[in-house]
Amino acid sequence: MSRFFSEKRKNLIPYTPGEQPKDIKYIKLNTNESPFAPSDKAIEYASEASKSLNLYPDPECKILTEKCAKMLGVDYDEVLMTNGSDEILNFAFMAYCDKDHPAYFPDITYGFYSVFANINNVPYKEIPLNKDFTINVNDYIGINKTIFIANPNAPTGIALCKDEIEKILTSNPDNIVVIDEAYVDFGSESCVPLIKKYDNLLVTQTFSKSRSMAGARLGFGVANKKIIQDLNTIKYSTNPYNINKMTMAAGIGVLEDESYTQKNIKTIIETREFTKNELKKLGFDFPDSAANFIFAKHNKISGEKIYLSLKEKGILVRHFNKEEIKDFNRITIGTKEEMETLISTLKLILEE
Ligand code: PMP
Repeated sequence: MSRFFSEKRKNLIPYTPGEQPKDIKYIKLNTNESPFAPSDKAIEYASEASKSLNLYPDPECKILTEKCAKMLGVDYDEVLMTNGSDEILNFAFMAYCDKDHPAYFPDITYGFYSVFANINNVPYKEIPLNKDFTINVNDYIGINKTIFIANPNAPTGIALCKDEIEKILTSNPDNIVVIDEAYVDFGSESCVPLIKKYDNLLVTQTFSKSRSMAGARLGFGVANKKIIQDLNTIKYSTNPYNINKMTMAAGIGVLEDESYTQKNIKTIIETREFTKNELKKLGFDFPDSAANFIFAKHNKISGEKIYLSLKEKGILVRHFNKEEIKDFNRITIGTKEEMETLISTLKLILEE
């Protein structure tokens, strides 16, 4: 740390992204990326857009926003495109949290929430999950706080149904409830239609998972248009050109190739169910995931040992040191072949 670093930033503990090693070629099952290449249309449009990189991108992100709104069945002014969904989540902390509106979220969830709270000087409380890692909806009823819930939750993969989220929304009418749907496409119910009914709901989604665009950084928020106005105020006060030209063009390409996205989602869900079956046969336990990952533990070998042995054999999964979940590894669903290799490698490790 330099001697110039501001007093107010000195104690920040930044988010730790999953490893992106470049030394050897791993089977990468550690950051919930899609194993499939982006749509050909996305590649073609991005490449075309690269020819005019001398010019700034459209700050309004008009064409992409229009297409995204159409895909979601909402109005143009109910959507804001952002640099990954991380950006819209940060905007939500900036816009809707302060000392009178602290942030409440589960104690086991997306690790960035507490980081966003800290950098924005927002007090926060982490609400313990039930023993089986489910969210106890009653903990969020009428609490009058700004609420962040990943649905399905990460790293557990467990989803709440829309009715349960509606209970949280109706009982906190004077507070914003953010539903982070980064993994919604893999089998849970989206709350997007509820934005017409609840003016306190912000839903966030991403192009990073089901749309194979993690490297392009594209996400969005969907909400009542007044909320989108607030978030635009934050955007134009931080980074008006938050979506670069190539990403904008690629995003348009992805949305014009919806059948490719749907085909990949179907394959990932099938591969997830195959992997669940195989892991069960090997004696692993895991909550029933509705996401593109499985959060699994073995009762004979520690989570850390499994993580290290897999890494040594060329497979990366995500291990967290946090006490309550240190027995687990979060395993991203890759291609069928990758998951077959994972299973045969786990067999070897269990026999060792
Ligand atoms: N929410 C959750 C629950 C996540 O796991 C992630 C991915 N790390 C994100 C949001 C952010 O994803 P992105 O910024 O790539 O859209």
